[in-house]
Amino acid sequence: MNVYRCETCGNEIFERRAVCPGCLDERFVEVESGEPEPFVSSMLTVTPAGFEDSYELIIGTLGKTKAIYRRV
Ligand SMILES: [Zn+2]
Repeated sequence: MNVYRCETCGNEIFERRAVCPGCLDERFVEVESGEPEPFVSSMLTVTPAGFEDSYELIIGTLGKTKAIYRRV
């Protein structure tokens, strides 16, 4: 998975934003952060239309930030 790293302060975020929450710079570089390390998960069994009947939603550490993702 990839993260966006601020070119000025090195802060990393999972979802790209207009500005860095650390220093307000607008310049990011996309970097590979490897696989996230899960620390909490939840199995969803009531899902919106168009999704599988159930899937696992996970919050994990990815580089210097956190990511929310679905187990594939
Ligand atoms: Zn920054």
